[in-house]
Amino acid sequence: MEITPYYQKSIECLHCKKQFKTTKVRSKFVKVDSYTSDFQPIYQNKEINPLLYNIFVCNHCGFSFTEEFSKYFAPGMNDEIQKKIANKWVPRSYGNERSIDDGINTYKLGIFCGTIKKEKSINIAGLALRTAWLYRLQQKHADERRFIGIARDRYADSYSSGDFSGTQMSETRVLYLIAELSRRIGDVEYAIRYFSKVIEKQSTSLEPKIVEMAKDRWQEIRDNKNKSASAYLCPDRQMGREGILSTPHPVATDA
Ligand SMILES: [Zn+2]
Repeated sequence: MEITPYYQKSIECLHCKKQFKTTKVRSKFVKVDSYTSDFQPIYQNKEINPLLYNIFVCNHCGFSFTEEFSKYFAPGMNDEIQKKIANKWVPRSYGNERSIDDGINTYKLGIFCGTIKKEKSINIAGLALRTAWLYRLQQKHADERRFIGIARDRYADSYSSGDFSGTQMSETRVLYLIAELSRRIGDVEYAIRYFSKVIEKQSTSLEPKIVEMAKDRWQEIRDNKNKSASAYLCPDRQMGREGILSTPHPVATDA
């Protein structure tokens, strides 16, 4: 019997507790060629995208969630979800193969439900970033940028509250993503500030590769600056944390 890339899995809804089917991709069909600078996986087989299947959408009540959502519902939360989501849900199924548009819709549902349920910022950030990647596949740049901005803000919230701790996301990764997503939306000041925070951690971080990536991005930003600014902007890598920390904001050098 031929094995297909997809299989169906039964899921219990966190809200209404009913069962529904969702589609998953068999891992043997998923091979990653490379990653972009914001960790988007580029798959060898462009036809099969497991990112489309991360969100479980309950076809009974509309509550949409991922494996990362907590099982805990704060008091009153179920009533609120019933009012804001389930009562307005027009039953439909996302249980079969999904198009990119379907995938985007499911992520938006996940962000909406996760926000109402007050899921951790780190989780909402991850959903927004994946939404941006799907828009990138469609070359819808304005939408991609909008969701990159949402992801950046939620990662910044997560860094302030520390709610990433205990998840798979390290502090180094969170800082790097805040910086890189800021760079992508043209918020250069923010990007420099947060790349610096990553580079500061080079002696203690368990993720030297991310620190190196931060240095590369930093270098790119520096290369894009005009020559007069570069004198201030250019802490040599060997200068270490002092040089980087004391770097003035490049805009100030234009005056
Ligand atoms: Zn449900």
